[in-house]
Amino acid sequence: MQSSDAEPIVRIRDLKKNSVNFVLQNVDLSFANSFRRVMMADIPTVAIDMVEIETNTTVLPDEFIAHRLGMIPLVSTLCDEAMRYTRDCTCEVRCQFCAIELRLDVACHEANKTMFVTSNMLEVVPTTRPGPFHSFDPEETGEELTKRVENFGHPIGKDDPDVPPILICKIRMGQELKIRCIAKKGIAKEHAKWSPCSAVAFEYDPYNKLRHTSYWYEYDARNEWPLSDNAKEEDPPRDDEPFDYNAKPTKFYLEVETDGSLGAQEVVQKGLQELQTKLANLILGLKPEPPENDAFQSGGGALTGQPNGHEPPAAGGGWGVPPGGGGASSWSPTRAGGGATGGWGGSPARTAGGATGAWGSSPTSGGGGGGWGSPSTAPWGVAPTGGAGGSGGAGGWGSPAAQGWGSPSAQANGWNVG
Ligand SMILES: [Zn+2]
Repeated sequence: MQSSDAEPIVRIRDLKKNSVNFVLQNVDLSFANSFRRVMMADIPTVAIDMVEIETNTTVLPDEFIAHRLGMIPLVSTLCDEAMRYTRDCTCEVRCQFCAIELRLDVACHEANKTMFVTSNMLEVVPTTRPGPFHSFDPEETGEELTKRVENFGHPIGKDDPDVPPILICKIRMGQELKIRCIAKKGIAKEHAKWSPCSAVAFEYDPYNKLRHTSYWYEYDARNEWPLSDNAKEEDPPRDDEPFDYNAKPTKFYLEVETDGSLGAQEVVQKGLQELQTKLANLILGLKPEPPENDAFQSGGGALTGQPNGHEPPAAGGGWGVPPGGGGASSWSPTRAGGGATGGWGGSPARTAGGATGAWGSSPTSGGGGGGWGSPSTAPWGVAPTGGAGGSGGAGGWGSPAAQGWGSPSAQANGWNVG
């Protein structure tokens, strides 16, 4: 635990429109990896999801072309707010809130010339609305439409001479392609075409001091495996250094490269937001009692609601409630002295006297007791290093003196063990 007290640090080494290279320090390996995976697979974008082929006399079969169309990145800036999932929409089949319609209508009429059909020939048209109500209701407005950038849903780089268009197929005289595409909002967990990232490079421990990697080699691993550039950031191992089997990685090197549908900055920020939402929902799901207002039903409530539903949040950062500026971060509850009763918000444990710490809050006085919001800076209340073991504080699930989740005397039960 060499740096469990340190705040997370992000150092940006290079930032471009579609890529960012940064070093992430003082976080757990599990966090760094979750962050990587969320950026790759959980950020919504727009991609062509349905293709109606009216005419295809090219050499490529319909499904081949449909697949290629799906892989074309479409401008998806602020996609989460600017578009609905069709499954959440009130329309019958599709509408302007949950679908973008693109048309492709090309034919080659010139002899002895190969025509390149590219993503620049895809035109965004007003979304048709199938079903009994064919036309749009002009009264119908949604805030989604106001959040869209001008070229939302267009193929990336369309009409930008600096960006080469994406080739869909090549046609010769007499061949034709007439297509209607429906683009939908989605995430890459469902299909990789919705991933905003073309690559996320992730490395830690370039000298393999932790021995998380076993190198295959002929004679000498050090000669046969060249070091990465990130090795310059770390001290080389000494030959007489004993293996530290307790060491944990604390420095992670990431490079996020997007396909252009989203900017690199948006991917990183949205990735953190998604991860926070996931954890907040996990905490809510683990609660013993349902809250009075179901935060799952109220959209962002999972992030903005009180950590426990019952108790007003105490000073300090709750899990999903970043305090306004400065102070405790939502990731690491501040070490504000030994808390009194730790415990799960709704539990009657607070009747046992003393200040009651709700989840993620920072009790500022009292005896021992740790729980979810324990003084430990480690996530999940592991390894309390603060005031655990003090007297007076009761913890647990309602029994004042019993050992339990938030029990001050707990040594070996549950999540609170150091
Ligand atoms: Zn709809």
